[in-house]
Amino acid sequence: MRVLMVYAHPEPKSFNGAMRERAVAALTRAGHAIEVSDLYAEKFDPVAGRHDFESAADEDRFHYQSEQAAAARNDTFAPDLKREQDRLRRADFVIFQFPLWHGGVPAILKGWMDRVLACGISYVDGRRYDTGLFRGRRALVAVTTGGTPQRFSESYPYGPIERVLWQPQRMTLEYMGFEVEQPFIAYAAPRVSDAERAAYLDAYETRLVEATAKPVEFKPIGDPLALVAEKAWSGR
Ligand SMILES: Cc1cc2nc3c(=O)[nH]c(=O)nc-3n(C[C@H](O)[C@H](O)[C@H](O)COP(=O)(O)OP(=O)(O)OC[C@H]3O[C@@H](n4cnc5c(N)ncnc54)[C@H](O)[C@@H]3O)c2cc1C
Repeated sequence: MRVLMVYAHPEPKSFNGAMRERAVAALTRAGHAIEVSDLYAEKFDPVAGRHDFESAADEDRFHYQSEQAAAARNDTFAPDLKREQDRLRRADFVIFQFPLWHGGVPAILKGWMDRVLACGISYVDGRRYDTGLFRGRRALVAVTTGGTPQRFSESYPYGPIERVLWQPQRMTLEYMGFEVEQPFIAYAAPRVSDAERAAYLDAYETRLVEATAKPVEFKPIGDPLALVAEKAWSGR
């Protein structure tokens, strides 16, 4: 299986760095081809703009989704986006791994989603969820938190982790058609003991090896580009 990990942590010696190393070693040992988009190390630019495109569909008014749809049709995305979109297309299984920052994904990962998962590449109008372009492929969100499990419950301030992870899981991956596995959460990673952190690494390895052992039934829906409306994009 081809696995893409989109990894967002600025420090290789962090606990996230240890998780990434463990994941790469375990998945390689299990016979999978794993590719890592290491967003900080590769200095991924998360800021969307005209520089996303090699040419403009409308020089007068920048309308992001319309420009994305035009770039998808004309193959005019900037090289950094083409590279990431190729990585995504190759992958049967996608992992987003990150520390929870202000209740969500770090900005560099959100920027990756905005720029890479472009209109015409990861979704087109009328194709979402059950009919999403990536239907049949699978994904998993792996997160570290500062907060304890108790804080992520209904009666505590943060609310349940499923609600916290709604954006990457429901609004992005499932929107694109991915079947999303139960998330892997290393709660309170900086607060727990060394032994508990070692147990997190073991549990992460087990989860990833089990999740990638299940076959992927990719159901291609035809050429997404043929589905991109010719008109300017009017909404999601
Ligand atoms: C901007 C910002 C916003 C935040 N917002 C939130 C929030 O909304 N909710 C929330 O819950 N938390 C929040 N946090 C906390 C954050 O989620 C955690 O600090 C983070 O998830 C911990 O992961 P890390 O990889 O950075 O851990 P690190 O701090 O790098 O490491 C944690 C511990 O693991 C140890 N470690 C490193 N490598 C290994 C190894 N190989 N084996 C065993 N132990 C190891 C380290 O020595 C350290 O003691 C926020 C933090 C920041 C910076």
